[in-house]
Amino acid sequence: MLQSMYAAKGIGLAAPQIGINKELLVIDVNFEDSAAEPLILINPEITDFGTTLNSYEEGCLSIPGVYLNVVRPSTIKLKFRDEMGRPRKMKADGLLARCIQHEMDHLNGILFVDRVTSKDDLNKELLKEGFSENDVISVN
Ligand SMILES: [Zn+2]
Repeated sequence: MLQSMYAAKGIGLAAPQIGINKELLVIDVNFEDSAAEPLILINPEITDFGTTLNSYEEGCLSIPGVYLNVVRPSTIKLKFRDEMGRPRKMKADGLLARCIQHEMDHLNGILFVDRVTSKDDLNKELLKEGFSENDVISVN
């Protein structure tokens, strides 16, 4: 999974994106710093969302070329198991918090385009890349 993520120059990847039906995420928001260790989150669960929201442009390896603003809580707390199976807790903010929420959505079958509030922006950006809304919006 780390290989797939780095090969695609992504900062996060959820197992279902590459056909693995597991609650597993890999994240490395500091990929340009080779000394920084990637984060491996097994059975992650967000235990608390901060009340402050912010908007930031997201992209996704599953919808290449599409970048749109998404509003999300700017801080989260989560629990997970690490690659050794040990239970862990952490707080995250900034890009890391955003990336974790984006990847957790994949585990629940939600893509970031489902969270875009401006339908106009969404359709314009999708069309530019040759996608239609029906191609990317989760049916549920
Ligand atoms: Zn994604």
